[in-house]
Amino acid sequence: MKSKKLTSKCGITIPKDIRAQVGWTPGMAVDIEEAGDHSVTIRPHVPVCRFCGTVEQIMEIAGISMCRDCAEALREELDHGLTQD
Ligand SMILES: [Zn+2]
Repeated sequence: MKSKKLTSKCGITIPKDIRAQVGWTPGMAVDIEEAGDHSVTIRPHVPVCRFCGTVEQIMEIAGISMCRDCAEALREELDHGLTQD
């Protein structure tokens, strides 16, 4: 276990040997959540569909993470809307 102090903005640098063990690199996205007992959990980011919440078959369209099913539903709605006007 390593002990560190949070920076003035409550930031922290993950120690180099731990980064090497888990394969984390600068700039990678992480998910941060409150873990109870005054603790915080940090994990590699898992892309989630913004519309239905699934983590299966995620793609990013215009900066929005969505699953294949929601992307197809959205495309059908757009196609339908375009043919109606
Ligand atoms: Zn979805």
